[in-house]
Amino acid sequence: MRFQLRFLSFQEKNFLLSAARSFCCQVLSCLTVIFLTSFSAFAQDGKTHLQWLGQSAFRITSPTGKVIVTDPWLKGNPLTPEKFKQLEALGHVDVLLVTHGHWDHFGDAPELARINDIPMYAPGDLNQSATLLNILPAKQLPRMNKGGTVSPVAGIKVTAVHAEHSSVLVWKDPQSGKEMPYPGGEPLGFIIELENGFKIYDMGDTGLFGDMKLIADLYKPDLVLMPIGGNFTLGPKEAAWAIKEWLRPKWMIPMHYGANPLAKGTPDELIKELGSTSTQVLVPKPGDELVF
Ligand SMILES: [Zn+2]
Repeated sequence: MRFQLRFLSFQEKNFLLSAARSFCCQVLSCLTVIFLTSFSAFAQDGKTHLQWLGQSAFRITSPTGKVIVTDPWLKGNPLTPEKFKQLEALGHVDVLLVTHGHWDHFGDAPELARINDIPMYAPGDLNQSATLLNILPAKQLPRMNKGGTVSPVAGIKVTAVHAEHSSVLVWKDPQSGKEMPYPGGEPLGFIIELENGFKIYDMGDTGLFGDMKLIADLYKPDLVLMPIGGNFTLGPKEAAWAIKEWLRPKWMIPMHYGANPLAKGTPDELIKELGSTSTQVLVPKPGDELVF
């Protein structure tokens, strides 16, 4: 199966959207419904659209128009475009994935689950804590763990895999206003398989571990979302090693850099460490949209 990649620039998107709006205005009076229909027709173009929103947050639109959001830390994320600090700007979200309990991943997930009335897929023991803390109703906190595959919506499969990291949930008691640590389970990575077989490996926060090779051999991801900032996760040197020696995907997108002053690794350093490789490193700016 072959996938073609291109960036959709802000100008192109604006042009397409304004053309759609103008067409709807001219032809039909029922503007709102038709505009939404028209907008969703763009989303359902049979391709995968992906936007990086800073740190480890991505908005992925599947080939049939299902919207998947990963690790939504948006409101307090210095890299998130202003527009997406309003969670409603994401549009309807169908699938919500959280890799672990740290605030820069879990951050806005409960609110997003509430707005969209959808479950928050996260490490089972993190969701157990969230259930007992009444962060969301139990029906919105499904339990899963490494090795398990779920299908949150028809045609999309999500498999939980290992990540070499930690996970704690720090939660403020609404009554006392005091923050307390709670068990956050084991951190996860996700293999996300879309309707057309396109596979994305969202590594979450992780250091090096040998079974990355096993995961890549078994699932054969087309695109890897990989932390490169260092300090808390893989840095450029370790990420480059894993890409070149073990994962060898068609494409990789660096994440988890630039939002925290301690996570200093950069895509330039990664590219230099990689040298000659068959993997194409894609470096979107926050808010850029890539089409596969
Ligand atoms: Zn973390």
